[in-house]
Amino acid sequence: MDKKALFEDISKNILMCRKCALGSSRKNAVPGEGSVDAEIMFIGEGPGREEDLQGRPFVGAAGKFLDELLCDIGYTREEVFIGNIIKCRPPNNRVPMPWEIEVCIPYLYAQIAIIEPKIICTLGNTPLNALVSSKLTIGTVHGTLLEKDGFKFSPMYHPAAVLYHGELKGTLKKDFLKLKELLNAEQK
Ligand code: SF4
Repeated sequence: MDKKALFEDISKNILMCRKCALGSSRKNAVPGEGSVDAEIMFIGEGPGREEDLQGRPFVGAAGKFLDELLCDIGYTREEVFIGNIIKCRPPNNRVPMPWEIEVCIPYLYAQIAIIEPKIICTLGNTPLNALVSSKLTIGTVHGTLLEKDGFKFSPMYHPAAVLYHGELKGTLKKDFLKLKELLNAEQK
C-alpha cells in the first residue's frame, strides 16, 4: 500500500472508532488533514465545537490564525499536516483525560510513522506533555528544538490561546520564523 492509502486507512478507522466515551458524544471524529509528505506536522489538543461539526481540524478563528502564520513562512495548509492528540471533541472543550489520550494516541503515532515529518510542532501544553515530556511547560520551551525517539519537536503556543492572550501574538509569530530557520537548517 502507498502512503496515501495507508493514511486513508487510518482515517477510516478513526471515523468508526468507539474506543473511548468521546466516540459517543462527538458529532464527527477529526482524523486531521494535509499532505502525507509534509515536512511539518502541527499537533493541537483536540477538536473544538466547529471542528466537531465539520469533521476538520482548526477551522475556527484559531485555524484562520494558523493559516496566516503558515502563509508568513511560505506554506499553505495543504502542504503541512494539521491534527490533534485526540480525534474526538471532549465535552465543553475540557482537557482530554489521560486515559483518553492513552487510548487515542496510537492513531497519531501511526500518522507520524507514515508522514515522517522533519519537525513536529506541538501547539500548547497538552500535546507537548503527551508527545515529548510531562515535565515541560510551553512557557519555558516554546520556540526551541527538542528531540525524542528520533523525532524533532518545536513546541509553540496554541493559536487559540494566543487569540485569547493577545500579548503572545508577537511571540508566536517569532516562533514561526524560528521554525522556518530550523527547516532551512534541516535542508542543508
Ligand atoms: S477520541 Fe480517539 S480513541 Fe476515543 S473514540 Fe475518538 S478516535 Fe477513538
